[in-house]
Amino acid sequence: MAFEAKTGNIKETGDGADILLAQLALLHRQVPPLYALLSVNAAALAFTHRDIAPALLTLFIPAMLILASMLRMIRWMLPLDRELLSAARLRARMRRVTLVGAVFSLGYVSWALMLDQYGGPYEQSHVAIFVAVTILGCIFCLTHLPSAARLITITVVGSFLAHSFWIGTELRIAIAINIALVASVILKVVKDSFSSFLDLEASKVALSKERRQAQALSEENARLAHTDPLTMLPNRRYFFAHLEKMLASGAVEGEFCVGVLDLDRFKPINDSYGHAQGDKLLQTLGERMRALCNSDVQVVRLGGDEFGLIVNGDLDAAGRVGDELCRQIHKPVQLGDTTVSVGSSGGIASFPEAGRTAHDLFDRADFALYHAKKHKRGKFVKFSADLEDMIRSDLALDAALQSADLAQELSMAFQPIISTVDQKVVACEALARWTSPKLGVIAPEKLIATAERIGIAQSLTLALFDRVLALSDRLPPSVWLSFNLSAADIGDSGTVTALIDRMRKAGMARGRIAFEITETSLIIDMSNARVSLERLRAAGATIALDDFGTGYSSLSSLHQLPLDIVKIDRSFAARLDDPSGRRLLDSIRNLALSLSLQCVIEGIETEGQMTNATLTGFQFAQGYFIAKPDTIDAASEFCVVREHAAADAA
Ligand code: C2E
Ligand code: CA
Ligand code: CA
Repeated sequence: MAFEAKTGNIKETGDGADILLAQLALLHRQVPPLYALLSVNAAALAFTHRDIAPALLTLFIPAMLILASMLRMIRWMLPLDRELLSAARLRARMRRVTLVGAVFSLGYVSWALMLDQYGGPYEQSHVAIFVAVTILGCIFCLTHLPSAARLITITVVGSFLAHSFWIGTELRIAIAINIALVASVILKVVKDSFSSFLDLEASKVALSKERRQAQALSEENARLAHTDPLTMLPNRRYFFAHLEKMLASGAVEGEFCVGVLDLDRFKPINDSYGHAQGDKLLQTLGERMRALCNSDVQVVRLGGDEFGLIVNGDLDAAGRVGDELCRQIHKPVQLGDTTVSVGSSGGIASFPEAGRTAHDLFDRADFALYHAKKHKRGKFVKFSADLEDMIRSDLALDAALQSADLAQELSMAFQPIISTVDQKVVACEALARWTSPKLGVIAPEKLIATAERIGIAQSLTLALFDRVLALSDRLPPSVWLSFNLSAADIGDSGTVTALIDRMRKAGMARGRIAFEITETSLIIDMSNARVSLERLRAAGATIALDDFGTGYSSLSSLHQLPLDIVKIDRSFAARLDDPSGRRLLDSIRNLALSLSLQCVIEGIETEGQMTNATLTGFQFAQGYFIAKPDTIDAASEFCVVREHAAADAA
């Protein structure tokens, strides 16, 4: 373990380098004590010979030997060289160690044998002990470099044996032989223990290699499990795991944002060009999204045509990333012979304002996406508490309408439109009313918007129209019925066909039904709207342009449309009270007349406005001053009253 700690960051070099490194690391621990032992022994030997041998042998040479040993010791105590150590370099180093060891031991033994000439049997015994201790010390300390231990043993014991034979005393020869035998036995033991060391290290290396391979394999598996194979973006599992990790590790510094992005118009492309082309489109978009990723921006595919976003930064930074994503996604994509283009809408929520858990953050971003889809297509919407309230009320409306008993909860109110000439009722505008048992009275604009959101716009319009047709005979035949149509109705040819069918079946006379449409519903898809209006008109209905003056279009730009009536928005009624307002209304009326359009002024609330509307020459008027929207019975009663009043006046 100590080795692993010491050499942990040394590059793996293969070729047995791992084992050589382990060997070297152990030598780094064992060689310094060896030099210390040699120095102490040398000092002791010099000391016992101090009075009997020349200073060269008792001072200078031992001092030089000890100094050299100390330097080597310090060198060995330095930390292991962490440079790249190839097996070849390590082997060269081992050879150097062996050689230096041999040179040192030769130096020491030669010096000891020189001292051997001085002194009596005690001093000579000390020399023999010096040789024996030195050799044993060397062998033990070089357990992990047996080649050096062997060479040093041969050098030292060989020299000692030769010297002993040269001296020729029986005792000395016996000691030398004894030392040689002991040394060779210990060498054998060391050699065996070194082979077990090699085996152990080899199995360690094999094991760690296996472990590394297993780890690499499991990392690759984890990467695949976290990657969407089609776009090569990270997948939903990664997104949530990563968010959880960011939040759990407390590593969240400052703000970060979570986003959800949804492609617009992907489904129709996928359906009409086939799934293979749909996949190709997703791949191309995935590439574009990947190109925008960096250390602060991550895009993942959550599934289908939904993508997730994690941005390190505040809402503004995330908004900029979102806008760039929308721009890139919107660029055309070549699919075979055709070029297609999809859009995208997104929602973003910031940590910690919008939530502190992955689930909350995702939910809030999804909330904002929902809002973007409904009201700001092609844009990224930022989550806020106000937005949440708004969406919650939308969701409540959605749920209420979904579970509504339409026959019970819906009704029609009728508001008369009169002629300013004789005050008689010329028309009644049918206005939808929804009273939800859960939410109370809901404004008709909200009813229509909710129906569009939950996808029942067509059936709602037709249900309301059926009621109007069913009630039509309660009003005098001369009174036409005005029915409001939304942009969704005008844009849907199926709805238009169904309206025409119903009119025919009900046997409505020409001009008995007027459809009111607003400028905005015309502008969204002008050519489609014109076709719808022409069809309705051909079926005998008249067309009224509602709320005129609230949009941007001018009457002249609308003159190509098949219109019969213009209804001046109720916001203009108040202007009847001042001369400049009257002049403006006068010119609008004249323009309408020049285009052969009849004019209704809406929102008459006072007697003064009624008088001024008449004086300005408006043919028809509508407003609370005349009559508020009410039941069919009240409206028909009103018609009768006005009929009688006109007859009396005549
Ligand atoms: P609109 O078509 O402009 O309908 C006239 C609205 O002005 C009605 O509101 C009516 O109550 C109100 N109003 C009438 N006279 C006055 C007045 O003198 N002063 C003021 N301040 N308001 C007056 P309502 O019934 O709430 O309808 C609002 C809008 O809802 C309608 O505006 C119309 O755009 C839409 N709507 C109503 N019913 C339907 C429907 O059946 N289908 C569709 N698509 N839209 C409908
Ligand atoms: Ca209207
Ligand atoms: Ca209106």
